[in-house]
Amino acid sequence: MATELHQELRVAVRDLCSRFTGEYWRKLDEARGYPEEFVSALTEAGWLAALIPEEYGGSGLNITEASIILEEMNRSGGNSAACHAQMYIMGALLRHGSEEQKRRYLPKIASGELRLQSFAVTEPTTGSDTLKLKTTAVKRGDQYVVNGQKVWTSRVQHSDLMLLLARTTPLGEVRKRSEGLSVFLVDLRNAIGNGLTVRPIRNMMNHETNELFFDDFKVPAENLVGEEGKGFRYILDGMNAERILIAAECIGDGYWFIERAAHYAKERVVFDRPIGQNQGIQFPIARAYVNVEAANLMRFRAASLFDAGEPCGAEANMAKLLAADASWEAANAAIQTHGGFGFAAEYDIERKFRETRLYQVAPISTNLILAYIGEHVLGLPRSY
Ligand SMILES: Cc1cc2nc3c(=O)[nH]c(=O)nc-3n(C[C@H](O)[C@H](O)[C@H](O)COP(=O)(O)OP(=O)(O)OC[C@H]3O[C@@H](n4cnc5c(N)ncnc54)[C@H](O)[C@@H]3O)c2cc1C
Repeated sequence: MATELHQELRVAVRDLCSRFTGEYWRKLDEARGYPEEFVSALTEAGWLAALIPEEYGGSGLNITEASIILEEMNRSGGNSAACHAQMYIMGALLRHGSEEQKRRYLPKIASGELRLQSFAVTEPTTGSDTLKLKTTAVKRGDQYVVNGQKVWTSRVQHSDLMLLLARTTPLGEVRKRSEGLSVFLVDLRNAIGNGLTVRPIRNMMNHETNELFFDDFKVPAENLVGEEGKGFRYILDGMNAERILIAAECIGDGYWFIERAAHYAKERVVFDRPIGQNQGIQFPIARAYVNVEAANLMRFRAASLFDAGEPCGAEANMAKLLAADASWEAANAAIQTHGGFGFAAEYDIERKFRETRLYQVAPISTNLILAYIGEHVLGLPRSY
């Protein structure tokens, strides 16, 4: 339910984001640059510290409120993927870290003095099959020695800290496949050249993402988060929050595409009438709107269950799937409505079109969400 606070949040974030125009994002897109000014402005305003409790210097907002912040960032035409992880990666530390770790890191993450916005899970040879990941961390004295490889680790070059998921007990020696993985807080500041090599991956969007190579890379044992071997459960604990927040970004994108498409359809006159008078143009925009609105209901349903401490795995996953589909449908309607101009960088449609396409694949692909619903909601046999 929309509250006064929600409206205030929307107005404040919208106001800040309006300083970062289409031209700002276009120039960065062309130069493959990082939106440093945008991220700094959001950090200074405290928006990226929304989920950090007040006792650790954050603003202690709930997931519904945090999701509104990300929605507005994308609805403004910007791309929150440059910094959204600063909002939620710290969740593993908050829920499972020691009091000492929380006191040491969270206030600095909240103030922006430290950026924790990298999360190294995916590996090139195992992909979605996370439990088979091959990167190992072996304890030797007061440190762990890490060897292996990660892929698609985003924002490493704009982060001070990174969460790393690695295997601490070989797969053959654990009772359950989900055991034996551990989470580490890696300090990136002296890491490169000291056992860590970072190779950027050029990709379809302006998104900083990398391959990582660990070669006897040392992590102090005190940087283990929680208990050794329980890391996968810690990661799962954070999944619902991530799904809801990403769904909100998709919703933001969806509304942005629809507003742009509807505006253009009213203005553009061909055959002596606005193109939006033609059902072939009007209906796809209307349908996209219906679907974004429906996805938005599921997003708020999932968020309110989450905030009430209720189970919300099914709703969070469904919200992510519906919202990613809806934003992509809206992107297609917008590009079609704009005709040739949809492809011109100047209109921003093609940029956002590329950006919103990612959500079908990452952070989790649509098929893996369907597999979750099939197995956990419908009781069908596990398909993988
Ligand atoms: C731009 C970008 C940024 C990213 N950032 C990060 C990051 O910061 N940290 C991180 O750890 N990862 C990150 N990722 C990785 C992302 O989470 C993975 O790409 C995603 O989970 C899919 O894994 P994969 O690419 O290995 O695909 P694969 O696992 O190889 O799958 C390929 C395709 O097959 C499908 N598939 C696989 N198995 C099944 C099955 N059993 N049933 C049905 N379909 C199946 C998948 O759904 C997918 O469509 C990022 C990816 C991208 C593209």
